[in-house]
Amino acid sequence: MSEEEKVTEEQKEKEKGEKKKKEEKGVFKLYKIEGDKITRLRPTCERCGPGYFMADHGDRYSCGHCGFTRYKQAEK
Ligand SMILES: [Zn+2]
Repeated sequence: MSEEEKVTEEQKEKEKGEKKKKEEKGVFKLYKIEGDKITRLRPTCERCGPGYFMADHGDRYSCGHCGFTRYKQAEK
């Protein structure tokens, strides 16, 4: 392997790793995996249905799709 080939291989690997990391970050923000159970970290919109996650606004959640707002229930 020439020096030039070695550098190209390393760059490829680096790019691959960064891309993979970025994708995982987006997915794991919404889901929490505990053993074999998957928990949704955010509720889904009652109006739009599953697949539409609601944004966390501290004391309430709101849907960016239809604007529906739901207040958080008191939690311990
Ligand atoms: Zn909605």
